[in-house]
Formats: sequence, C-alpha cells, structure tokens
Amino acid sequence: MAYRFVTGVNDLRGLKDILGIDFSPKKTCTYDCVNCISGRTNILTDKRDEFHPPKDVFSEIETFVNEDHKPNYVLLTGSGEPTLYAGFGRLARMIKDRFPDIKVMVYSNFSLLDREEVRHEVGVCDVVGGNFNTVFDDVFRKIYRPIESIQLQNVMEGLRKFRDEYKGIFEPDTRFFAGINDNEKNVDGLKDFMKDLGPRKYYIFDAKYGNKPLSPEFIDTLKKKFGDLPFPVEYKV
Ligand code: SF4
Repeated sequence: MAYRFVTGVNDLRGLKDILGIDFSPKKTCTYDCVNCISGRTNILTDKRDEFHPPKDVFSEIETFVNEDHKPNYVLLTGSGEPTLYAGFGRLARMIKDRFPDIKVMVYSNFSLLDREEVRHEVGVCDVVGGNFNTVFDDVFRKIYRPIESIQLQNVMEGLRKFRDEYKGIFEPDTRFFAGINDNEKNVDGLKDFMKDLGPRKYYIFDAKYGNKPLSPEFIDTLKKKFGDLPFPVEYKV
C-alpha cells in the first residue's frame, strides 16, 4: 500500500524501530536554517494550520501498525516545524490512546514553545528532541533565519516554561557551525542555559557548515567546558 504520511521505519540516537510521520506541506517552517537538509523554506510562517485532518493521518498510522509493522516509537516530524500542524496534539493523543505501548516522539525547533497550547500539545509526547544552537540573537538570526516574529528570548522563555511543566524525556541537541557559533562565549552561554533546563541527555553535532569541520582545538574546549554538566552529553563530532 502507498502511504501519504508514513515515511518509513528507522533507528535514531540509539533508539530502535521508529516510525516517521510527515504531515506538513513541504517545506513549512518558522525558520529557514542555513543547513536545512530539506532545502529552503518556501512557507515561512508562524501560523499554525490543520494541513490534514488528524483522523486521516491517524488512520494511516493505524493501518500501517495493524497491517505492516508495529514500531516501538512514532516520530511526528513534518517537512519543517511539526508544531505548526494545528492537529499535532490531537494526533499525538489518538496514537497514545489507541496504542499505549508505542511511544510518541517529536523533533522540534522549539520556536513555538512560548505558546501555552503548543507546550500542552508537545507535552503529550513521551520523548521530545529538538535543536537549539545559541543564546545570542545575532547568531540565532544568522543560523536559523527565522520569521521576524520569532524572538530568541521568547524561544528561551518557552523552553524554561516547558522544563517546568513537562514530565517526559527531554533530549535537545546543539549543532556547531564552523565560523558561526563555535566560540567559547557561545559554549559558556549554552552551558548555563542547558544546566538550567536540565535535559535527560544533550547531543552535540558538528554541522560541517560549508563542508568545514570543527577544529580539534574547539572540540577539545567544548568537551572540557561541558565535562561537568550534571547530565550525559553525547558528542557526534
Ligand atoms: S528548523 Fe528544521 S526544518 Fe526548519 S529550516 Fe531549520 S532545519 Fe529545516
């Protein structure tokens, strides 16, 4: 059977058997990141929209699980930022109600977490991952090229509120871009912020921006500085 929303089963970050679900028009995002693997954002927006009725997306997931394969996780991704999907929370609840032994995951850019309804909907997920690269506004704009209405301070405030409310597994990541955010000032700022958020685990990636890898000296500094964070840090550099 050909699927519209089910994208396939993969492993990710040590987790096995994750069913990907994509419900967004390509590509709908609050950001237009310089390193986006899906290319430029053609729908740059901060307006949530019900791209498809959640029951249609759910029905396909149900068919896949019943007829093809039952995964350990369902990952709600979207071609872009998944929380722009206004049916996100309803879809997550439908999956959890129907398949209580399948964990629901999301990978977000956190840009809408300052909205209470988005925090509640994301809070339905068992595992929340996402990307956060800097605590400095000029660097934030350079990497993410966000829609004007998204402000870094609001993203950070949304994450702090989410930390206070969320009971599940929170595992953010940071990508370091050679020549943009690979400096000690940013590392120190991220360290303070992540310490405050207290994730279960924190992932570090080399964005290999412009095909330029991070320098061994920077990776060394990074590991020294993050060495005493009170949660595990996994380096993919
Ligand atoms: S937030 Fe993700 S989907 Fe959106 S532009 Fe950035 S990398 Fe691409």
